[in-house]
Amino acid sequence: MAITLETSVQFLKGVGPRRAEAFERIGVKTVEDLLYHVPMRYMDATTVVPIGRLSVGQEATVIGRVVSKAVMSTRKRLRIFRAVLQDDSGVIECAWPGQAFLDKTIKTGQLLLVSGPVKFFHGRQLNPREQVVLSDEDTAAEGMRDGVVLPVYPATEGLPHRFIRKLVKENLEAALGVVDDPVPPDVIESVPLAPLKESLRRLHRPDSAADAEKGRRRLAFDELLDLQLVVNRARQLATEAPKGPTFVVRKDLTTRLKDSLPFDLTADQRQAIREITANMTSAQRMNRLLMGDVGTGKTVVSLFAMLLALENGYQAVFMAPTELLVEQHGNSLARLLAPLGVVPDVLLGRFSKSEKDAVRARIASGESRIVVGTHALIQKTTEFARLGLVVIDEQHRFGVEQRAALVEKGASPDVLLLTATPIPRSLALTVYGDLDISTIRMKPANRLSVSTSVRTNKHRDKVYSFISDQCALGRQAYVVYPVIEESEKTDLRAATTMAAELTEKLQPIEVGLVHGALKSDERDLVMRRFRDGEIGVLVATTVIEVGIDVANATLMVIEHPERFGLAQLHQLRGRVGRGAEESYCILLKPDGRPTPRLDEFKNTDDGFRIAELDLKERGMGELVGARQSGGLALRFTDLATDTDLVARAKQVANGILASDPKLSSKRFKPLRRRVERRYQRGMELFGIG
Ligand code: ADP
Ligand code: MG
Repeated sequence: MAITLETSVQFLKGVGPRRAEAFERIGVKTVEDLLYHVPMRYMDATTVVPIGRLSVGQEATVIGRVVSKAVMSTRKRLRIFRAVLQDDSGVIECAWPGQAFLDKTIKTGQLLLVSGPVKFFHGRQLNPREQVVLSDEDTAAEGMRDGVVLPVYPATEGLPHRFIRKLVKENLEAALGVVDDPVPPDVIESVPLAPLKESLRRLHRPDSAADAEKGRRRLAFDELLDLQLVVNRARQLATEAPKGPTFVVRKDLTTRLKDSLPFDLTADQRQAIREITANMTSAQRMNRLLMGDVGTGKTVVSLFAMLLALENGYQAVFMAPTELLVEQHGNSLARLLAPLGVVPDVLLGRFSKSEKDAVRARIASGESRIVVGTHALIQKTTEFARLGLVVIDEQHRFGVEQRAALVEKGASPDVLLLTATPIPRSLALTVYGDLDISTIRMKPANRLSVSTSVRTNKHRDKVYSFISDQCALGRQAYVVYPVIEESEKTDLRAATTMAAELTEKLQPIEVGLVHGALKSDERDLVMRRFRDGEIGVLVATTVIEVGIDVANATLMVIEHPERFGLAQLHQLRGRVGRGAEESYCILLKPDGRPTPRLDEFKNTDDGFRIAELDLKERGMGELVGARQSGGLALRFTDLATDTDLVARAKQVANGILASDPKLSSKRFKPLRRRVERRYQRGMELFGIG
């Protein structure tokens, strides 16, 4: 069979439907996806240490055969998986505290690659942070001859790294044979970088780690170039776009709101309101992003913008990603607007048809002036009489099409996007180059900071009794589990076990469980019961609904905090400290290894500072939200180190757009096709033909 880039991986020899399904879980559907499923790291003689030469205190990577294994329990009931690894030079014991489940996946006789610190514990002991089961084919690399570089692929349940490696090896040349480089060669040479085929080959079969890095840089440049093309084109179009409404400050509703607020606005809020007002009172259309941590008061700021629209005889709409959030916003807006005699309307998907019809009739007639809703707002049947402002909360939770569909309900209304995922300014300019940005850094003065502590498994019982104590005071707690394993099933098992254990230990407190496998209405039900205080402790596997506001929750316990990114930890911590009560965040890690990053996290609650640390730590790809932010994912770029590539991509993109703004020439057509595939938004921006 002749292979093309669109060929489904299912049709490759040895794959079949079951493995194809596993591939789909890691985002690989076609041969092209497989080509871009590049190794997460490389092993060679320079990185692997003979076991006999390991010394205590060292951070090392070794390869050895499993000669024995067991699960042990400590007196503190911590279950530890242990395995003894052997190579030609000696043996070492490896221990995985709290990961007894590994007993199922790691087998005696297997060849294992592990890396982590070497400790002293009845002799040398290695505590792996990472382990990969190697195949017998990899044994060629066991001796780690010079020049042998072993790629290690991201894997998943039912799809071991060694299978991926073999599959790539067997199909690489055929797949590369059908790769076309959409970037003209002279452009690539001018950067300078290597041709696409050569770069992909280097990534999968490098002669050295440096070789692989050259390959990565080419892919990073490509994704940055596409991003810059989209962003710069959007800016170009924005300057030509139809004008937005020109509002006039009438000091009517806005002033009355200011006078009736039960608090003073922070300086950052006032500044954001000024920036928004400047946009809204100019003829140019507003396209602004408001960034600020949870609880910094973005909603109030957006309310000023909405009232400015109202004062001018326009309607304003506020869209949020979940029904729960919409209810929450509906309530708080109703409260703040009561003194002004304005009543917001709420539109939810779960309303009965007649309820929805009634709300829609009010929206169409203009009787309804402020509407809060979920994506139910987007449906064709929702028509506005005179929409002047669109506010979108947690904007990254919506697809580009959804945002655009709402905006199209008006005649070029002003647009305000809100996000609780702050990112460093330099990065924001790269990613959101077509938006103006306002930031709120400071929290309202009356806000207590959340006291954060780091605890180890030794303190588990104490942590449980602290949960009990908080519940006895009438408060509520979250216990969050990370995606621990490569497989969601295992995570679910871990969290289910934990929920059962907590139910038993915390009797008679009611413990609820939410996880990724629940349908959204089932999840909403549990969350609602938690919000209404019927559930005392909520155990969650997936990150809890962004923005869920349960002021009575005062405790956030995070299991395996070492597995979360700092920005994610910060988001989680933001779930508590929303009421008047002292709140706590406990990071419960498996053992006493020092974790400077967690200590640093403990000591700061500035979201922007944390975003910077997070960026340094993991690069852009992992930033919470960035991954979904309108498809602006950067998989290969490390923004912390690739600053030269960012700058070059910007220059190259500007050069290309100056000569061919729609990428319609023969020379750039292939590039346009790639941009359109990568960003749905590319379609709108570059048009057809
Ligand atoms: P965000 O959307 O940024 O997470 P909200 O707008 O929901 O934050 O505000 C969180 C809470 O803080 C709300 O109850 C709001 O009324 C209150 N709040 C907003 N601004 C202030 C302020 N300047 N001083 C005191 N409380 C404030
Ligand atoms: Mg909010």
